[in-house]
Formats: sequence, structure tokens, C-alpha cells
Amino acid sequence: MFRLMRWIGLCFIILSFPFLAFAGEKTWQVVKSTHFNVFYKNAPQNELNALVQKAEECYDSIAEDFGFNRFDFWTWDNRAKIYLFDNQSDYQQATQSFDWSGGQVKISAKLIQSYAGAPGFLQSILPHELAHIIFVEMVGLNNPAVPLWLHEGVASYREKNISSVKALLADKIRQGGFLSLDALNKFDARSADSETVRLFYAESYSIVKYFIMEFGRDAFVTFCRNLRDNRNLMVALSRAYSFKDFNDFEASWKSYILK
Ligand SMILES: [Zn+2]
Repeated sequence: MFRLMRWIGLCFIILSFPFLAFAGEKTWQVVKSTHFNVFYKNAPQNELNALVQKAEECYDSIAEDFGFNRFDFWTWDNRAKIYLFDNQSDYQQATQSFDWSGGQVKISAKLIQSYAGAPGFLQSILPHELAHIIFVEMVGLNNPAVPLWLHEGVASYREKNISSVKALLADKIRQGGFLSLDALNKFDARSADSETVRLFYAESYSIVKYFIMEFGRDAFVTFCRNLRDNRNLMVALSRAYSFKDFNDFEASWKSYILK
């Protein structure tokens, strides 16, 4: 999920003043890899190793998926940070997150937080949140031209299977219930039912898949650069993909789903 969370954190305090930890409490230790600093206290070594390995794999595969691999923005002092709390209770206390949350991202700080043994963290939450961070670095932080569907389409790019999503969406187009581009632009998760949320994610994913499969990664890089530099979605769509207008773009995306 894309959450620019309000984050008042214990982590900030510990990060800035590592020696102010409470008496008797273990301070954060760090494992450094090429693109990540992983902070932990008592997490098991095998879990840390698996986390570092998965994070580096994701970094490479996400950059590869979208053609961002000529950029290397996360080395040395610019590494992303992952805090792995010892348990769910410590994590919840420090991050003020919901009890169902297995991890969260603070994009502007390039920070991901989770806890040892969090269900689904390595397989789905970590790749999803890393893709959010990498994409935002490509298009610029708080860029109003970048719609939520594009953020979520990029972040969920590896989570779904395009054949089954196309079949589901083709049915929606034929039988009604498909969310128009305009509806995607106006989507607000807070007022949507779970079926609409699922559809929003499926359609967002299909648009990004459509960009990459039909036009390639170089065009997607051009699209992202245009979004970053011009901060105008239609300008970026027309320069990277030659769409005349939003209707032209929507019609072309829908015909990709139906073919
Ligand atoms: Zn997300």
C-alpha cells in the first residue's frame, strides 16, 4: 500500500542519538550491504541474511523490470534503511501501526520497517515497498502529476499474473463494472469497498504492464523522466507514447486488455 505515513518515531530518535537508548536495552546494530543498511537488535542471523539477500535481489530486479538499471542511486551514504524490530509488539509501539501491519514504508526517508518473522514481509511487502521508493526517486517526491494508480501499478508489478488479470478485466469491460480512467484518477481507498479496491489494483497493474509490454522499458524511462521534469501527466503520455489525449490512452489500454 502507498502510505506516506505520519511517522513520529522512536527510530528517528535512536537513529540520531544512538547512545540515548534506555539503560539495559540493546542498541541498534547494523548490517551493511551494497544498497541497504539493515538495523536490528536480536533478530536471528539467518533472518538477517535472508533479508539482505532479498533486498539486494529486489533492488536489481525492480531496476531491471522498468529499465532503471543505468541509475545507481543507493550506495554509500545514500543506502536505504530497513529496521527489523525484534517482535510485533516493539514494531507496533515504535511505528504506531495497525495490528495487521507487517511492514511500512516512509518513502521520503527511504526507510522500511518491519519485525522478525512478520508474515509476508520478504515475499510481498518488501518488494512492493521498495518499488514505491525506487519509482518515487525516478519521478520525484510529492509530484502531483503522478496518479496513485501509477504508483500502485509499479509497486504491484511483480505480484500478479497478467493473463488472469486480463481475463478478469476483459469480463468487467464486457459486462460492466470496469473502472474508467477517470474513476482511477479519482479513486479514494477510504471510501471504496474491498471489491473496488481489488479492481483498482488490478487495473493499475494492467496499465503499467501495458506500458512495458507494448512499448518497452526505454519508453517507460522516458515517461518517468517527463513526469519528473514537466510534472504533467498528459505531456508525459504524449511525449513517451504519442497519445493524443486521455481518451486515446484509455482506448488503447482497453484494447490491450481485450486482445
Ligand atoms: Zn502500495
